[in-house]
Amino acid sequence: MDLIKGVERPWIYNGKINVRSFLDLWKTQDLSLESNLTPETLDEQFTKMFDVDQEMIDSLKEDLSPDCLTDVADEGWKDCIYGDKFAIPDQVKLVSVAAQVKHIEKMKADRNYHSHASQLLKYRNYTFLDNSEMKKRSPDEQKITDLEVILNVQIFKPMKFSLHVGEHRKHVNPIAEQEFLCLGGQFLSALRDEIICPVDANPVEDCSDDPKKSKPSGGEIYTSGFFFIDDCFYNDFRKTSNIDYSQVIVDWAKSSDRRIGELRSAKMEATCFIDLTIRLGQPYVYVHQGNCEHMIVFSEMRLFSPQTDSPFIDDYPRLFKTVNKTAIMCYMCGINVPKWLVFDNKRLPDNPWLFCEQCFMSFNYDSQKKKVGHFKAFPYLDKSAII
Ligand SMILES: [Zn+2]
Ligand SMILES: [Zn+2]
Repeated sequence: MDLIKGVERPWIYNGKINVRSFLDLWKTQDLSLESNLTPETLDEQFTKMFDVDQEMIDSLKEDLSPDCLTDVADEGWKDCIYGDKFAIPDQVKLVSVAAQVKHIEKMKADRNYHSHASQLLKYRNYTFLDNSEMKKRSPDEQKITDLEVILNVQIFKPMKFSLHVGEHRKHVNPIAEQEFLCLGGQFLSALRDEIICPVDANPVEDCSDDPKKSKPSGGEIYTSGFFFIDDCFYNDFRKTSNIDYSQVIVDWAKSSDRRIGELRSAKMEATCFIDLTIRLGQPYVYVHQGNCEHMIVFSEMRLFSPQTDSPFIDDYPRLFKTVNKTAIMCYMCGINVPKWLVFDNKRLPDNPWLFCEQCFMSFNYDSQKKKVGHFKAFPYLDKSAII
């Protein structure tokens, strides 16, 4: 597959990394020092490591203190950057301050520049979640006790097939909607269970005949799915009724003129992250509900850090970053959050149409709760409510 897609991109790390080898490499290093390091023992460890005395450490701390930055000729730089004094005092010689002040002035004066610069900010729309303390802890809960790998996995918004127009494809910025921290020892199926997609959450049957009756969601009925990573389809076969989405693609790819190479398949519930070989930054795929395709990317891989990561295995895969959402409003009243998606209703100016509960009932049903005209209705759960 590499021959077809190519991996020469600035954001893809070219070398493949076997997660197990990465961990094994670190196991050969003496990491006891790092795991014992706390703010209290830092001075002591530093003394031993570099063979210096406490006096030297105190002197270093003094020299490297952030207070030193305002001590000398550059006094006033903080006001230039963080305050509202945009004139650079004469004594400030830092080129970075001049560049930053120029940038702030331009952001205020030029709307196009402001919008362009904001779009380039990597974390502008993200919310970082700290859910490590939310669960009540019991002493019996399983903890991470050995060296462990943590992988950051980004799940992107589903692909929109309607954007393909003939040979031309409209360019869309891929948006990483959710980012998870996964442990090397966890099965891929554990990540699948945590991925949130409205296609799973919403019912797939027409509910217009009896809108009060609850119907099973797509995620409850259609449970098949796969991850495609490093030329291997990892299918979900936890339910006997699940079907193999990958077989048709594997057969299609067998023809030698396609130059795709051999594609393999395995079970996601029997494969741990540590069994994978990955490229950081390379797009892989998650498919569920037949054709809901999400790009997935391993953006980072590192060792578990007892100082900053939750030690409880149950906390993983852990959703730690989402994109800020603006809720869509009911098309009829523009006030409430929509709860119903209506198709093929000739009395409406557009198809489909989103209704809040009140507008849905008053527009589509008479006083006897009978349907007015023909239409299909599906409960709608806005993304902003679930992510
Ligand atoms: Zn989806
Ligand atoms: Zn409404």
